[in-house]
Amino acid sequence: MARYTGAVCRLCRREQTKLFLKGEKCYTKCILDSRPTTPGMAKPQRGKPSEYQIRLREKQKLKRMMLMTETPLQRAMAEASRSPGNSAGMLLRTLELRLDNIVRRLGLATSVSTARQLVRHGHVRVDGKIVNIPSYTVKVGQEIQLEPGMKDNVGVKLALDFAEKKANRPAFVSFDSEKLIGKLVREPGREESSFPVNDRLIVEYYSR
Ligand code: SF4
Repeated sequence: MARYTGAVCRLCRREQTKLFLKGEKCYTKCILDSRPTTPGMAKPQRGKPSEYQIRLREKQKLKRMMLMTETPLQRAMAEASRSPGNSAGMLLRTLELRLDNIVRRLGLATSVSTARQLVRHGHVRVDGKIVNIPSYTVKVGQEIQLEPGMKDNVGVKLALDFAEKKANRPAFVSFDSEKLIGKLVREPGREESSFPVNDRLIVEYYSR
């Protein structure tokens, strides 16, 4: 599967917003604070951006927050459009409930890329069964657990410590820090979403 392997801070600089792709570093040593320039552009773009550019940038922001390529995002959008209800809300719900994102929000990883690696390498169990598909949709009531051997993993320990310090686990998950078991207790609300984007512009981009 294609994936982005370049410098992730460049993506934030391109979108001129913090996408939080590097875990703890994003809170302590963010390059955007010291170098808020757009990569590859010696001078800022002149003139007003077009309607298309505004929508494109919003879509790129969402795609980059999840470090996704275009095809899976298009697929998620197509599914959201087919489902009953608001397409924009459904798209964000689909991304929020991806297994890699839930692992990150439980505090088992500090960034979406490390969460995805944990899943891909078979370290994550859903209701007791290993699931190695990052795009797997977690359902309400399901329990997420790391393989027992991962309790001593340095990266996992750092992530758990960081989650405790920042106290940023959302209310739609519960977490037992003794057993390291998390659970999706309810559907996430829009205000609890990981994606501070204008979802309406993204839907408009895809329906052009
Ligand atoms: Fe983005 Fe984090 Fe890099 Fe800052 S440190 S530019 S938020 S990836």
